[in-house]
Amino acid sequence: MAKRFFFATVLVLVSVVCAASGAALEVKGEVLDKRMSDLQTLLKRNQQFASEYEGGLNILPKFFTLVLSCVDARIDPAHFLGLELGDALVFRNAGGRVTDDLELDLGVLWMLGAGMAGENFPGLSLAVVQHTDCGLERLAKPEMAAALTKRMGLKQAQIDGLVNTDHAQRIREDIERLRKSALVPKGLIVSGHIYRVEDGTIEEVVAPAPLERM
Ligand SMILES: [Zn+2]
Repeated sequence: MAKRFFFATVLVLVSVVCAASGAALEVKGEVLDKRMSDLQTLLKRNQQFASEYEGGLNILPKFFTLVLSCVDARIDPAHFLGLELGDALVFRNAGGRVTDDLELDLGVLWMLGAGMAGENFPGLSLAVVQHTDCGLERLAKPEMAAALTKRMGLKQAQIDGLVNTDHAQRIREDIERLRKSALVPKGLIVSGHIYRVEDGTIEEVVAPAPLERM
């Protein structure tokens, strides 16, 4: 499920980028640019995937631990946690940060899980995984902040909220945000981790505990 979701997200992002650039979606003859070439490569990989796909997976995941991590191409949880299709729900965004959408999703998924699993529903856990050498560390550069303000109209306070140079601190802030959220069930067990892109290891920075006991 994680790989399929991520692949779908990649396709949407690629489509948005192509639409924004005005590039034709239908490529005839010579490939127009690298982005279109990339899309064709990915779609070919999907054909290979689909040719071997057996289906029949349960909508309920094998693990009731959800994972939040960054979109960084080096840190796919399917790889570093050994997830197979049907194993776990994975959220990915820039930085692996808690957002309004994530709070809403956690509340909805808890209700869905409880509704579908019935008395077998054990509740959910969330592993927040940020990582070393995250791209959001680079937002601390003055020239990057200036570009965000100029191109996107972001205010300095918004940029400060995105900058992520202290992952342990950001993780603690994000978990505190979850704890205060009216949308997120207090029984959600949350933990915080930093994945090291240098050696593939994971360091625990917040031990797992239900939000109501944090
Ligand atoms: Zn990152």
